Amino acid sequence: MARTIGIIGNGVAAITATREIAHIDPSVKIEVFTDERHAYYPRPRLIDYIAGRVNEKDIIQYDQDWYEKQGAQLHLSEAAAKVDSQTRSIVTHSSTHSGFGAVLVGVGSYPFIPPIQGTDKRGVFVLRTLDDATIIRDSIRGAGQVVIVGGGILGVELAAAVREAGQEPVVVTNIDTLLPAQLDHNASGLLTKRLREMGIRVLMNYACKEITGGDRATGVVPTTGNSIAGDMIVVATGVKPNVELAKATGIGVGRGIIVDERMQTSVPRVFAAGDCIEWKGTYYGIIPVALESAKVAARNMLKPDSARYEGTIPSNTLQVAGIDLTSIGVFNPQTPEYESFVRTDAQRGTYLKVVTKDGTAVGGIAFGDRKFAVKLRGLVMNHKDLSRLKDAVFDAD
Ligand SMILES: Cc1cc2nc3c(=O)[nH]c(=O)nc-3n(C[C@H](O)[C@H](O)[C@H](O)COP(=O)(O)OP(=O)(O)OC[C@H]3O[C@@H](n4cnc5c(N)ncnc54)[C@H](O)[C@@H]3O)c2cc1C
Repeated sequence: MARTIGIIGNGVAAITATREIAHIDPSVKIEVFTDERHAYYPRPRLIDYIAGRVNEKDIIQYDQDWYEKQGAQLHLSEAAAKVDSQTRSIVTHSSTHSGFGAVLVGVGSYPFIPPIQGTDKRGVFVLRTLDDATIIRDSIRGAGQVVIVGGGILGVELAAAVREAGQEPVVVTNIDTLLPAQLDHNASGLLTKRLREMGIRVLMNYACKEITGGDRATGVVPTTGNSIAGDMIVVATGVKPNVELAKATGIGVGRGIIVDERMQTSVPRVFAAGDCIEWKGTYYGIIPVALESAKVAARNMLKPDSARYEGTIPSNTLQVAGIDLTSIGVFNPQTPEYESFVRTDAQRGTYLKVVTKDGTAVGGIAFGDRKFAVKLRGLVMNHKDLSRLKDAVFDAD
């Protein structure tokens, strides 16, 4: 049983593992290393911060006191370069920390920037950290049009925040659907309509190839069509798992850090959890996975083979004021073993979809109906048999 545990990273995976370890065995000593200068903050709150709804100090959820109460020491601004695979020492840029019985790598992911020319210009941003959010928030004031490249959940939430902050966002996406990882074409159409009503321009099939301007960005140019002027360009085109430290350590990586169902990496007693992992060839990049994988890792670090990860049903709720939108599990099946039931109400602006496989609820979409979103989540999480209900599922309590 590990008496001292080292954790690299300080996102939701790291703090979940810290909490779990302290809960199971408060006598275990934990050391947490982060390259950031802030203690823990939840990333979804960065959207509220950019919108001007909260201040920086409201975002930090755990201060140093919290870590001390968990028996943890937090090392801020101390990036780890690698783990010594023989001794499990954590090598940071300033020193080497030894004596860990187990190490958890929870280094998350970073923004993926596609090959667009000119992304190095001033006025081009990405959003991942609190420091990124502060620069965006400060730059929005006085900016004219803000171009957001990417029509995923982050791009759309950011556009709504920019609008709330009083500026003019335009979202450009290279495909014909918003939130392709959460929505089907119909739900995307409804969302686009609602965003346009809120004063957010949305341009589909707009493949950005270049950012114009000299030293400073002045707009974007697509592969075909007209360029758009913009004082600020935010690139929100997805994330990539952070595998640098794992590579330097000699840990096996694919797209992410490869882990087994115990969250064990290829190096003994070195575990990984959260956005940085690849499990059974799958990469998720969402909070529910970070929570579940971190708990499994924490238990196995304390007691070998005491917990197994069995996968996560992905679920997302769009954080845009005035739009209730939840997507869960299989939402847009293309093969015949699935059956989809849909109910739309143009007057209420709702779009509800339940997907079943062999009669069992496996996913769906709830647009404009928060109550149904709760119900849908229950149906899918509890693997409810809907073979008798079929589309009466929308009426049944
Ligand atoms: C604005 C925004 C909104 C989001 N909203 C949602 C949402 O609504 N729902 C959802 O499911 N997901 C959302 N996500 C994604 C979600 O935040 C991630 O899935 C989650 O943060 C993953 O947690 P993690 O601990 O694995 O990684 P991260 O949160 O990325 O944390 C990794 C940590 O490791 C640190 N680190 C990296 N390298 C090193 C190193 N070498 N040494 C030391 N420290 C290092 C980083 O600084 C960071 O502290 C959002 C993301 C953003 C940016």
